[in-house]
Parts: sequence; structure tokens; C-alpha cells
Amino acid sequence: MAKGHYNQESPYFGMAKLSKKLIIRVPFLGPDGMALFPFILVRRPDPGPTLLNHERIHLRQQLELGIVPFYLWYVIEYLIRRWQYSDHYTAYRNISFEREAFSNEHNLQYLTTRAWFAFSRYLHTVQKA
Ligand SMILES: [Zn+2]
Repeated sequence: MAKGHYNQESPYFGMAKLSKKLIIRVPFLGPDGMALFPFILVRRPDPGPTLLNHERIHLRQQLELGIVPFYLWYVIEYLIRRWQYSDHYTAYRNISFEREAFSNEHNLQYLTTRAWFAFSRYLHTVQKA
């Protein structure tokens, strides 16, 4: 999930591998974007490349773990981070999946060189929002 990422450039720049058919607009979606392998759900009609790249990183994570284990891990890690940090947003930003996605969302070539299970490198990274 991601909040607040928009870009004026073409949303498909550098993303030849991401079919537009896999991007589904859900106007009532809470966050700006959400990855649900193999789909990317977006709230607004104009998702920028940064948002799409962020969600693509989550798709890769889901491909590695499987959708159900990914979301189980996501929720459990969120609860741990919620205990670790004081507020919802900081807890969310410090989930390892989000640390990896936010750290690399501006690098549109990131997924071409990313190592498998790279999110695990972000488990111990201290990175506050
Ligand atoms: Zn995210």
C-alpha cells in the first residue's frame, strides 16, 4: 500500500513488463495503491510511475512469498511495528515490505537488479518515516 505518490510523467515509463490490463481502478480504495498479485489496484485514474513501481515491488514480494503468507506477514509485522513505534503511520512505514518499496520506488529499474527476497534485508534497517 502507498499513500501520496503522483508523478507527472507517463505512468508506464520504464514499465514495459507491467500490462495496463493488470492495473485496476478502484475509486473507493482506501490507499492510493494496493498490490494484489497479479493486479495493482489504484484509487485515482492517473497513477504515476513512482506509485506503480512501489506496487510492483510489492507484487514481487508477493510472488516470492505467496499472497496469503505475504498478507499474514504484513499484518503480523505491522502489529510488531505498532508496538515498537508509537503511531500507525510510522509502524506502517517500517514494515520491511514498505521499507524496501519506499526506499526503491523512485528507481524504476530497481526490479531489474533486485535480489530475491531482498525485503529481508530491510527487517533490521532502522528507517523512520
Ligand atoms: Zn506499500
